[in-house]
Amino acid sequence: MVKIDTKSHPNLIGGEWKPPKDNTLKNHNPADYNEVVGLFPMATLEDIRSAIDSARSAFPGWARTPAPARGAILDKASQIISARLDEIATTLTREEGKTFVEAKGEVIRARDIFKYYGGEGWRYGGQVLPSSVNDELLYTRREPLGVVSIITPWNFPIAIPTWKIAPALVYGNTVVFKPAEDAPLTALMMVEALVEAGLPAGVVNFLTGDGELIGTEMTGNSNVNGVSFTGSHNTGSKIYQNAIKNMARVQLEMGGKNALVILKDANLELAVKLAITGGFGLTGQACTATSRVIVEEEIADAFVSALSKAAKNLNVGNGLESGVQMGPLVNHDQLEISQSYFALGKKEGAELLLGGEVDDHKGYFAQATIFDHVEPTMRIAREEIFGPVISVIRANGLNDAIEKTNAISFGLSAGVVTNNLKDAFAFANQVDAGVIKINEPTTGLALNAPFGGFKQSSANTFKEMGQAAMDFYTRTKTVYVNHG
Ligand code: NAD
Repeated sequence: MVKIDTKSHPNLIGGEWKPPKDNTLKNHNPADYNEVVGLFPMATLEDIRSAIDSARSAFPGWARTPAPARGAILDKASQIISARLDEIATTLTREEGKTFVEAKGEVIRARDIFKYYGGEGWRYGGQVLPSSVNDELLYTRREPLGVVSIITPWNFPIAIPTWKIAPALVYGNTVVFKPAEDAPLTALMMVEALVEAGLPAGVVNFLTGDGELIGTEMTGNSNVNGVSFTGSHNTGSKIYQNAIKNMARVQLEMGGKNALVILKDANLELAVKLAITGGFGLTGQACTATSRVIVEEEIADAFVSALSKAAKNLNVGNGLESGVQMGPLVNHDQLEISQSYFALGKKEGAELLLGGEVDDHKGYFAQATIFDHVEPTMRIAREEIFGPVISVIRANGLNDAIEKTNAISFGLSAGVVTNNLKDAFAFANQVDAGVIKINEPTTGLALNAPFGGFKQSSANTFKEMGQAAMDFYTRTKTVYVNHG
């Protein structure tokens, strides 16, 4: 039975829960667009300014709170999320579409990120440096930036907000947070966990509504000291221009067009498994998704035939049904984008091996799609599609494969499948991407390792995750103490 849940959900400003007034944002289930998952406020300019003011007022108290005490709140939030794991994962599938298994993995990731940064409250600090002067103590302090704006996409609606908000908080910043219009409920559940864990009023503010309106104020307001954004290149460029006016610190992580390279000595079974996971997992809606497979000519026919066979058997449907391996696209726009690339691939002369159709009578479903004999100059080989589409490009040897891997404007993630250590390291050293995977899918990241893209995939300023996040969320002060 379809559950129509028209429950209204609030925003959080200065510690007060504010329900929607007149206008509401409707959150739909992409597997069944007749199902409304919830209603959310359309925040006004006044709301946003009030949230930024609240974050500004809460900042001195939060910055003075001992870091282990800040971390303890994150640790508690991790426990609260753990207790609500299945409920949050079900919500995530209902509003974003990914399968329950994928959603649960994402919620577990959020739980673990809170735990990791909870511990960071006991660990981080500055440096003591050798002094060139007698009786002088020379040291550095890591101080928070102040108010940070956090703007996130819909494709990882709890993991990405968590990997930004947890370090922001543990290093002493206060936050104004706007999730994506298509998946705000999971993000709200994460904010609820922080509030229940004891976060003081104003330290995190949560606003939903129009990205352009809210985002422009969040990135251009002179009371904002830092902006961390993940989303499309188009939006990221606007944010950069806007934030730089106030010299706010900016971190942008954006699109990808990631390649998995399969060398002729590769284990074919593994190569197929990695291409399926990276290309069709999360319905291809991951920034690190395998969107191109570059395969050595000698094994290309065998690989392509095994890949098509495996992809043909994928069970596409509502991610809450057991056995479903690929959910819908998130919304009608994303469906149309995939559809337009199906047509473009054919027009450009690539060979459609599998899929190429959509089914939108109830939800935004697209077939797992494979194009073969794609040329690097074609648009399907260069542009981010953000759907379940793999373009197979053939290569002659390692150098040609590396050249083709690099022949795009993005540089997020790239993988190679090989048993040859020398080739694997040559690939790792020569490919222009922020993440390199050897015999692993292009998707999937460690929460304690630096993450970020190169080229147009990133502003190339600061990395995210692990201790690398400290560089973005703190500023360094140098103190000279003469005690002679
Ligand atoms: P998007 O750029 O459309 O939206 C991202 C966020 O920006 C949303 O919250 C949106 O409301 C907000 N926004 C819109 N206009 C704004 C403005 N003018 N100022 C400030 N904020 C504004 O992206 P999306 O469609 O939600 O997400 C998909 C994109 O995200 C893809 O390109 C994908 O590659 C990228 N992505 C990148 C990473 C990464 O880590 N590199 C991770 C996930 C997704």
